[in-house]
Amino acid sequence: MALKIKVLSQYCKSCGYCVHFCPKEAIAFGKERNGLGVFYPVVDEEKCISCGICATVCPDAALELREEENNG
Ligand code: SF4
Ligand code: SF4
Repeated sequence: MALKIKVLSQYCKSCGYCVHFCPKEAIAFGKERNGLGVFYPVVDEEKCISCGICATVCPDAALELREEENNG
């Protein structure tokens, strides 16, 4: 089991807090828009240290630190 950030893209309002506060520059806006018509972030799992800061600062609960199986 490993902790991973899950992006619940439908809740994102594209404020950019997660991108700004990530200590590893591991989260950045992608090229796709959500149902609200805004760009949402994607996580670079090679850089992410699962610190959870992005999930803490997100005002829209669009990021969750979850335990995930390695196969998924
Ligand atoms: S969990 Fe930490 S390292 Fe990973 S994307 Fe979020 S703020 Fe960055
Ligand atoms: S902090 Fe939350 S709402 Fe803001 S850009 Fe990141 S995921 Fe979207």
